[in-house]
Amino acid sequence: MNTKKIIDKIVKTSQGSIDDLVNILHSNCDAYLFKQADQVRKKYCGDEIHLRAIIEFSNHCRCSCSYCGINKQNTTLDRYRMPPEEIIDYAKKAYISGYKTMVLQSGEDPWYTTEKISYILQEIKKLGDIAITLSVGERDYDIYKQWKLDGADRFLIKHETADKALYNSLHPHSSFKNRIKCLKNLKELGYQIGSGFMIGLPGQTLETMAKDILLLKELDVDMAGMGPFISHPKTKLKNYPVGSSYLTLKALALTRILLKRPHLPTTTALEVTNIKDRENAFYTGANVIMRKVQPYKYRKLYEIYPNSTIHEKSIEEERKEVENYIKMIGRKVSITRGDSIEL
Ligand code: SF4
Repeated sequence: MNTKKIIDKIVKTSQGSIDDLVNILHSNCDAYLFKQADQVRKKYCGDEIHLRAIIEFSNHCRCSCSYCGINKQNTTLDRYRMPPEEIIDYAKKAYISGYKTMVLQSGEDPWYTTEKISYILQEIKKLGDIAITLSVGERDYDIYKQWKLDGADRFLIKHETADKALYNSLHPHSSFKNRIKCLKNLKELGYQIGSGFMIGLPGQTLETMAKDILLLKELDVDMAGMGPFISHPKTKLKNYPVGSSYLTLKALALTRILLKRPHLPTTTALEVTNIKDRENAFYTGANVIMRKVQPYKYRKLYEIYPNSTIHEKSIEEERKEVENYIKMIGRKVSITRGDSIEL
């Protein structure tokens, strides 16, 4: 079957094999793929783009992810923790500026006990109709359960790569098995779950990427983030090349035509590698954009990968700028919480 026919089949049936996906990733049929993905996005998600506020509240981490600039091996980094009241205060500022989703992200930092996170969730929920996404790593079932009861709506925890051996070599502190278990536990507990993976990880092949996308489908994710691998100078992977933003767009488009309903953000990593591809992502299936809202003194210290694109603006200015950008590309700014889209 030629590539266009395979794309048509996936759009129609939401089914595809590893060979089908590799064929598309390998082909130069990108214009057709992107057009189909854009149409699927329009049909299932509409023209709205959801803005999410993200508060990266601690760069302490007990993990050793080989690609990450804030892993515990980086002893030269200044570490910070935002006090709970400051996190709540910045969530309030973001809410007043128009954000209806707060993503609370940190390294795996046990200083924030179950009770501390519970308190933060409960206080943010008192501010108004806000969806809260946690992104704080691997925890036990009962802790996830407690946070769900305290008001967490969503949870982001990327599987990073569907290649088990590669995953285990990049994450010596944990295992692929446990990561998938966490995602399944979260789904069972009623969270809207988000996963995702990196494009261009050393050792990754097109077949791995195909498996990554099929794993997103198997997990029935509500959100999925894909970004190019960007090496960090303080990590073991510092000498490896940056992942392809073009291949990232293809993975995004393929995810859209295969899964249809997940919220797909244009990731910061994509913006950092190629700002033009941020815009392209909105024509290839993306419907979400996230903006950091924590104080600037912390932002520079939360570098999973290097980012030199930081320009100081207020939360309101930055929100306005993104809203204008969304209108400029002919899309609408969502005024809803942007919960899961059900088929
Ligand atoms: S990717 Fe996340 S869990 Fe891994 S070292 Fe970085 S902050 Fe920690």
